[in-house]
Amino acid sequence: MKKPIPALLYEQSEPGRRAAILPNCDVPESAFPEDLARDELKLPELSEPGVVRYFTQISQLNFAIDTNFYPLGSCTMKYNPKVNEAMAALPGFVGHHPMQDEHLSQGSLELMYRLQQQLAAVAGFHGVALQPAAGAQGEFTGIMMIRAYHESRGDTDRRKVLIPDSAHGTNPATVTMAGYEPVEIPSDENGNVDLSAFEQGCDETLAALMITNPNTLGLFEEQIEEVTRLVHECGGLVYGDGANMNALLGALRPGDVGIDVMHFNLHKTFSTPHGGGGPGAGPVAAAEILTPFLPGPIVACDQDGGPYYFTDPPQSIGRLKLFNGNFGMLVRAFTYILMHGDSGIRELGENAVLNANYLKSRIEKLLPVKFKRGCMHEFVASGKIDGADDVHTMDIAKRLLDYGMHAPTVYFPLIVKEALMIEPTESENKRTLDAFVEVLETIVNEARENPDLLHNAPHEMPLRRLDEVKAVKDLVLCMRA
Ligand SMILES: *Cc1c(COP(=O)(O)O)cnc(C)c1O
Repeated sequence: MKKPIPALLYEQSEPGRRAAILPNCDVPESAFPEDLARDELKLPELSEPGVVRYFTQISQLNFAIDTNFYPLGSCTMKYNPKVNEAMAALPGFVGHHPMQDEHLSQGSLELMYRLQQQLAAVAGFHGVALQPAAGAQGEFTGIMMIRAYHESRGDTDRRKVLIPDSAHGTNPATVTMAGYEPVEIPSDENGNVDLSAFEQGCDETLAALMITNPNTLGLFEEQIEEVTRLVHECGGLVYGDGANMNALLGALRPGDVGIDVMHFNLHKTFSTPHGGGGPGAGPVAAAEILTPFLPGPIVACDQDGGPYYFTDPPQSIGRLKLFNGNFGMLVRAFTYILMHGDSGIRELGENAVLNANYLKSRIEKLLPVKFKRGCMHEFVASGKIDGADDVHTMDIAKRLLDYGMHAPTVYFPLIVKEALMIEPTESENKRTLDAFVEVLETIVNEARENPDLLHNAPHEMPLRRLDEVKAVKDLVLCMRA
């Protein structure tokens, strides 16, 4: 049954309805501060069950990782284990004020210190700063560190940052914000960086290369060592976009193949909630030459077991975010890492890659998949269905919703026409993956037999097809009609 959309809270309001009845006042009354008082506060008047039903109903209009398969490529929507939540809710963490003295903060500091160590170990780096609040802020941090490095050597003519055309949009945005000039380099027919175009960009004006591995096609960048060597030879540094670290866990350490600085997306790789579910965390890890430039403060200790203390790296680029970033996310990621241990972490990566390859091998019989080699944790299909020319990726995506599955990422990366980017993650089982393939089979048949069924999808959602551009450009945040 189609879920009805509840009337807005303000429309449900009835004079005199109350959710709470306060006891009689048993202290002397005093006047409300004049400058804070307003004659008319337009608040809705509702009963407690009315409020609870309203918020429960609107929460159920959405797709969520806790209710539906969510193969949103590039976003790594894996299951967020509830034990993470339990740990983040421990009173010692929740009640800990970030301005408490270090000697009263040893538990939180130890957690941060150990997480720094774990992230450095997983990715093969020397130093880690946990502060950045998201992948994009981590990127900005890393490029600013590279800039500070060049400037510290008086090497100020380097202006250019090379970025493959498959990159996430945040990469060129980061470069521009850091005051550098982004230069796009094409991919070759195998989905790797086009080496000859790349070599032409390697000169004395090169500040850095920003590279994502596996790239956003879900393909392992096969020439990674060659590419990082060439960048270093001409005096540049290499930024690794680590958003796809899920695929590499326990198998390859980016620090070992010439990456100088990289961000993690804890909210992708280490199972902390994101999207509508929580703030992110984008720690940055650096090779030895860039460690002095990390944002501060970071946590240090002089002997095993503490005491732990905050310190600013000697040539730090400064602070990126108030206090210690999104600390609750650090607790969740730390829990996920501890829960799996060394061998478990490796299995996470292996299962993410296995699931993606299993889906790819089945889906390439239904939809075109351009690159024929094995994928990593995700792959990019195309929504062009043989025998259904006027059906597009968006139609397939909307029809999937009718079958209770969140759509894959659509129209990204830009270098694949009608892209459908599919990432199952390690937290799905074979039964779910098979169900997804069966739904896609049904949709492909529908596209050939009754394309309008897809053109008009979704049919079962509370709202039909939305004007997504208008929704973004003309966002209504007010609950009042
Ligand atoms: C998600 C992602 C980012 C940005 O991360 P946010 O946490 O959303 O800011 C950057 N690069 C790639 C490849 C990504 O998948």
